[in-house]
Amino acid sequence: MTIIQPRHLLDGSHRRMFIGGAWVEAASGETFETRNPATGTVIATVPRAGKKDIERAVAAARNAFDGPWSRFKPHERQKLLLKVADLFERHWEEICVSDTTDMGLPIARARGNANRVLGMLRYYAGMATALHGQTIDNSLSGDIISYTRKEPIGVVGAIIPWNAPTAASVWKIGPALATGCTVVLKPSEEAPLTPLLIAELMAEAGVPDGVVNVVTGTGAEAGAPLAEHMGVDKIVFTGSTATGQSIVRASAGNLKRVSLELGGKSPVIVCADADLERAVPVAAMSVFANSGQICIAGSRLFVARSIHDEFVARLAAYAAGLRIGDGIDPETEIGPLISPRQLQRVEGYLRAGSEEGARLVAGGTRLSRGALAAGNFVAPTVFSGVTDTMRIAREEIFGPVISALPFDTLDEVVRRANDTPYGLAAGVFTRDLTTAHQLSRRLQAGSVWVNTYHAIDPAVPFGGYKMSGYGREGGAEHLDEYLNTKGVFIRI
Ligand code: NAD
Repeated sequence: MTIIQPRHLLDGSHRRMFIGGAWVEAASGETFETRNPATGTVIATVPRAGKKDIERAVAAARNAFDGPWSRFKPHERQKLLLKVADLFERHWEEICVSDTTDMGLPIARARGNANRVLGMLRYYAGMATALHGQTIDNSLSGDIISYTRKEPIGVVGAIIPWNAPTAASVWKIGPALATGCTVVLKPSEEAPLTPLLIAELMAEAGVPDGVVNVVTGTGAEAGAPLAEHMGVDKIVFTGSTATGQSIVRASAGNLKRVSLELGGKSPVIVCADADLERAVPVAAMSVFANSGQICIAGSRLFVARSIHDEFVARLAAYAAGLRIGDGIDPETEIGPLISPRQLQRVEGYLRAGSEEGARLVAGGTRLSRGALAAGNFVAPTVFSGVTDTMRIAREEIFGPVISALPFDTLDEVVRRANDTPYGLAAGVFTRDLTTAHQLSRRLQAGSVWVNTYHAIDPAVPFGGYKMSGYGREGGAEHLDEYLNTKGVFIRI
């Protein structure tokens, strides 16, 4: 497959942000750099937005919401979203190269996400014409008929992390546009480029000015003013639990609605009867995919004691065989971590694992030989002999690190798997249908995968229990988070 050189990328050139249909600079005139995490090279500079820029973007989104966008009929929004999806499909390689260059996602994996992202856009396009209320016979008075209406909530502030810029943007913009809302998207300062490309493609598809605005800046300077803004009706946030908590506090001024997709420390349970051929690669990639920088990483691996040693040995061999390098090489399976800061953080956990007595059976170090020296590479790592109280078993690492823990009974493993403040996802490997259903019921997680991992469907809600957040993305119920329900009563 030919790799298309994306517009404005890779050469360090300056890009502007997108507000009210125009490409603009920050009011302060300040900029910041974004780097390729595989090479350390500056690939672009972008505006460093602040409060004034957020004001401007929210005003643009409000004008569009009250003006041209409010006149779009549901079937017109549907047609537009389908056009956007088609345009994304035509530019898919460009989108993939942008993600690979800006945040390190291996290109093979980025390409493989096409169905997931385009499917999401097309699913929401379909939902644009399926938003309807109910008629309800008044239960107290026979001469009043009631009905409900679903109305768009208004201006949505969307704040996303760096680990999946394309998917995260689409998961926010898709439902917002399907329901008739407008958006101010604040990408992560670590990976702002693909959201700008997305804005460009949306404008090209004919999305009216101000309906989608992309403001580049840091969390403190641009994210916080967006979360606080009295003119924003809803914040949809994906990121760490700590930032989610500060967003909830910041949103209190106008009691805007908030939905949160936060961190995780997800358990994967491998039962004694599991198909090991299938379980080993899936369990490994549940964490190693995207170098562990995935919210659903199955980083606590509970293995039935009778197969524990064999499973860990196979897992270690699998980890050692993964191809690591610049994600732009189609052969690469494991790319870099996003930044030197993230690298240091992960190295801290590697040290903590060894200091607390875990046994290193694969990886465990930064990779700095040859071309890897310029990037933020860590070897896929497996620790065994981990106990439930060690930091590597309790804290979200966001790096390619698996902690293997043996278990004896299902009751015990359910208790231990649920013993975490998080509740985003869980995995189960078993050939027994009863065990599969029982564990799926008892695990406290928003998604449970049996004999697979990572499966996503636009029609199936995704989100967290406990401190992994609230609200769902995907599925019909998700759209309610972008809608107000109005009750109308008519005397007849
Ligand atoms: P982060 O919380 O540091 O940043 C996320 C976004 O919030 C960025 O755009 C950042 O600029 C912004 N931000 C930071 N401080 C802010 C503030 N005070 N007010 C408003 N915005 C602010 O997260 P990250 O390091 O970019 O991403 C990693 C985290 O995201 C992990 O914890 C991971 O589990 C989580 N995540 C969750 C999901 C999910 O669906 N549950 C998906 C991907 C990532």
